[in-house]
Amino acid sequence: MMNKPFEYFAPKSAGEAVSLLKKHGSSARLLAGGQSLVPLMNLGLAAPRQIIDLTRIKKKKDPLSYVTANNDSLMIGSMTTHSEVERSRLIRKHCLILSETAATIADVQVRNRGTIGGSVCHADPAGDYLAPLVAIDAEFRAINSRMKGRTISADKFFRDMFTTALKQDELLTEIRVPRQNRPRRGSAYVKHKYVEGGFAIVGAAAVVSLNKDGSCDRVSVVLSGVRATPLRLGEIEKRFHGKSLDERAIEEAGQLAYEEVREPLSDIHATSDYRREMSRIYTKRAIRLAAARAGARETKKTEEG
Ligand SMILES: Cc1cc2nc3c(=O)[nH]c(=O)nc-3n(C[C@H](O)[C@H](O)[C@H](O)COP(=O)(O)OP(=O)(O)OC[C@H]3O[C@@H](n4cnc5c(N)ncnc54)[C@H](O)[C@@H]3O)c2cc1C
Repeated sequence: MMNKPFEYFAPKSAGEAVSLLKKHGSSARLLAGGQSLVPLMNLGLAAPRQIIDLTRIKKKKDPLSYVTANNDSLMIGSMTTHSEVERSRLIRKHCLILSETAATIADVQVRNRGTIGGSVCHADPAGDYLAPLVAIDAEFRAINSRMKGRTISADKFFRDMFTTALKQDELLTEIRVPRQNRPRRGSAYVKHKYVEGGFAIVGAAAVVSLNKDGSCDRVSVVLSGVRATPLRLGEIEKRFHGKSLDERAIEEAGQLAYEEVREPLSDIHATSDYRREMSRIYTKRAIRLAAARAGARETKKTEEG
């Protein structure tokens, strides 16, 4: 399909980009890596009249692509590509779950162009970053056309399928994630896909914190691909506080996931029943891996996984 004509803007600063957003209103779209927006335009599912390309924003003066750290958090610029997230030493050291997640996205060509900011703003229910970012309590920094900044927690950022809490004149500038490399804490992201690099049919992110005696202090599990927005499995969080995360507990967690997911999405890729069953299996796999990384005594894998 031929794209409808559009005006092209290449702002040199984030301020210029948000002014253009304000000026052109809802007919304008920001362009980051183009790995979701351009396919939508090619399919005729999006027809912006103005494209505001973020790739020309001056990297030295007004960077949107970076990874830095302070004592508590990592700060990741919204234009950081999936490949950069995958390879960043800081991310590998302090937030392994994110580099692990980036490595599962598509293929190397998509990972070299696609950005973490574009991915969360696109808010595809099957997007890989969504569940891990909610599970690790990430925060999103945005600026508006008056250059006023605000912070939105990951829990509140994803509003609906392909819909976020960002306002029309807002630009996502940064994602902040608490450092994960604490003693006795482990996290993991696992996804069920049909082909290598394919979108998640179900993705499961787990973060496990253990007490000194080896019992569970906190376990967070968030699923993607099952609802319009990432699904936090609250029952699992409540049930295992202070308990041992042995194989019996992990089996129980899988069953809780199955029950909490109830009527997941159904589409040409997978039925509701199938996604429900995969939620059970991948919840167990994510908890098992996160618990092992937190230093839990080895849990034995059942036949089903
Ligand atoms: C073949 C293929 C396979 C893929 N497989 C996967 C996969 O397995 N898992 C997965 O998670 N993803 C997958 N993707 C999607 C890919 O990860 C995209 O890179 C990502 O969804 C969008 O990032 P982008 O930088 O390309 O954003 P763009 O496509 O440029 O933009 C996406 C949307 O976000 C908005 N936006 C972008 N940046 C900002 C910002 N800073 N502030 C506000 N709004 C902004 C844009 O206006 C647009 O609406 C795949 C894509 C392709 C083409």
